[in-house]
Amino acid sequence: MIGTLDAKIPPGPLDQKWRNHRDHSRLVSPNNRRKFEIIIVGSGLAGGSAAATLGELGYQVKCFCYQDSARRAHSIAAQGGINAAKNYQNDGDSVYRLFYDTIKGGDFRSREANVYRLAEVSSNIIDQCVAQGVPFAREYSGLLANRSFGGAQVSRTFYARGQTGQQLLLGCYQALCRQIAAGTVEMFPQTEMLDLVIVDGHAKGIISRDLVSGKIDNYAADAVVLATGGYGNVFYLSTNARGCNVTATYRAYKKGALFANPCFTQIHPTCIPVSGEHQSKLTLMSESLRNDGRVWVPKRKEDCDKAPAEIPETERDYYLERKYPSYGNLAPRDISSRAAKEVCDEGRGVGPGGRGVYLDLADAIKRLGEQTICERYGNLFEIYEKITGENAYKMPMRIYPAIHYTMGGLWVDYNLMSNLPGLYVIGEANFSDHGANRLGASALMQGLADGYFILPYTLPNYLAGQLSKRPSTDHPEFKKAESDVRAKIDNLLKVNGKRSLDSIHRELGALLWEKCGMLRNKKGLQEALTKIPELRSEFWNNVRVPGDDEDFNQSLERAGRVADFLEFAELMCTDALARDESCGAHFREEHQTSEGEALRDDENFADVFAWEFQGNGEIAEPKLYREPLHFETVHLTQRSYK
Ligand SMILES: Cc1cc2nc3c(=O)[nH]c(=O)nc-3n(C[C@H](O)[C@H](O)[C@H](O)COP(=O)(O)OP(=O)(O)OC[C@H]3O[C@@H](n4cnc5c(N)ncnc54)[C@H](O)[C@@H]3O)c2cc1C
Repeated sequence: MIGTLDAKIPPGPLDQKWRNHRDHSRLVSPNNRRKFEIIIVGSGLAGGSAAATLGELGYQVKCFCYQDSARRAHSIAAQGGINAAKNYQNDGDSVYRLFYDTIKGGDFRSREANVYRLAEVSSNIIDQCVAQGVPFAREYSGLLANRSFGGAQVSRTFYARGQTGQQLLLGCYQALCRQIAAGTVEMFPQTEMLDLVIVDGHAKGIISRDLVSGKIDNYAADAVVLATGGYGNVFYLSTNARGCNVTATYRAYKKGALFANPCFTQIHPTCIPVSGEHQSKLTLMSESLRNDGRVWVPKRKEDCDKAPAEIPETERDYYLERKYPSYGNLAPRDISSRAAKEVCDEGRGVGPGGRGVYLDLADAIKRLGEQTICERYGNLFEIYEKITGENAYKMPMRIYPAIHYTMGGLWVDYNLMSNLPGLYVIGEANFSDHGANRLGASALMQGLADGYFILPYTLPNYLAGQLSKRPSTDHPEFKKAESDVRAKIDNLLKVNGKRSLDSIHRELGALLWEKCGMLRNKKGLQEALTKIPELRSEFWNNVRVPGDDEDFNQSLERAGRVADFLEFAELMCTDALARDESCGAHFREEHQTSEGEALRDDENFADVFAWEFQGNGEIAEPKLYREPLHFETVHLTQRSYK
């Protein structure tokens, strides 16, 4: 063990920690708040909600995003819903149960105190969003409706058809616009953060590039908040928006912020299967469909080429219902994904290349009628038909696992502050709450909890000691960071080689999918760790980045992001190799139960792994810090969904 980390978990009983912590945190008085400037990078649900709330409190906020509008952040893509422990269905839900489901779903690799707080504030989020006018689905009586997501035996997911993220983001965006009009939030769209500036050990600013004019700018602040989303696109093909990347968090890592559990990446079981070599994006079919859909493959290999309607009920293997009778089609994502791969590996997959399983809503349509199914999931059926040309009301969907979400992220303590004072990290960009596997509908909950309800309480605790300490952008640290950014851009444009960015990125993605994807083993990870530096060298010697830096140049934007992925991939594999156990989505083939489930090693690995960049700009073996996870309330068990 090289070092330990202090998560600053408040003392006291689990259900009183957050209240006590708020009661004893330092405050910034209303007339002093306008003296503080806060940079928020990211305007998705996490960044947008934080910017709106801090603006409303009276702070001066500068909010950055690379899209042309805050309203286009990747959060808009979220489909299925958002969890909250409201127990509206009277089916036995509670704060404790949401907390327990989340800890268990994450295979006991997250912090009890953070997760309990998340479950506690979950109800406030729904009230806040309803007050903003978010059109959650309702029962005939007018009460808010719920459905179920994986890893839960209650219905606690609030939703707006299959476009929950969009509706939540519209609510958040209105709150943000109100603050923009009030002058407390200044928005910088189409502006990419390219470096973090550290002054006297504190995060005090960023270097950015205007993506339209190419202009490089410096911004100083009293604190910096990263809300820059996940890095699933390191795999090239994922369900994430094409723009999602690791640049902001990776460059903060290179400035000293610790990166936690980078190998914890989620593979979602219900995506439209890959259809060809030149595809650049995968599409999710929301997990919510598994409320009413049944997953199956033919029992016999010989039936795989038959039309599904020709395969009688007795010849179908509803393998999730068979293997996990109590959760059935709502087994968690990591488990459902591996089960799909297993039946395809047995040669019982359907569709092109045998890499697909059926998600069949026929029973539900018979029971509830097409109209009801359309009301619940209509837009998902439309998306499916546009992409595959098949009508899923008439025949089952074909689905296969794909990269979807990243549980890893920058390390933060209970206050959501990284190890660098003044640098906060919220939403998918941090590692905090989901352990080794996130439950469905919990990412929106976490992003909005962080932005609306947690950061606004914990940030003042830091700011209270920072009055009049904001540096000027003339400080040498800003000049140095700016010149490093310019040098990196020049180097990218100078290579002038023959290979396209996509071809290199695709090669990296295929390597990671094979060696650090759904299954991992020591030999494969070691091979990846040899090949990634070779690919990086190929990039820096042979990539072609057309255009120049003083204009709108999307190739240049992407080149910087791919360059960071090529370094970050090595960190992921290093982490996956060091974690010599299986847990949740991190499935090391060497460690499995006799039934093929993930086999944890709690004695040696009930820790967060947090990595520190070494190498003075060049890549060197990163340094590992470990944060031991203390379980005082839950009892660690082998996860069972049977
Ligand atoms: C298809 C799909 C469906 C999903 N459905 C659900 C669901 O039903 N329920 C659920 O709980 N979760 C769902 N998720 C997950 C969830 O949508 C995301 O985890 C969540 O929206 C992330 O929010 P965020 O605010 O952290 O980041 P994002 O929404 O990704 O926002 C990131 C922001 O950071 C900005 N940014 C990034 N880098 C930079 C930079 N260098 N400079 C400037 N700006 C930068 C971007 O412009 C953007 O504004 C889904 C995910 C996908 C892919």
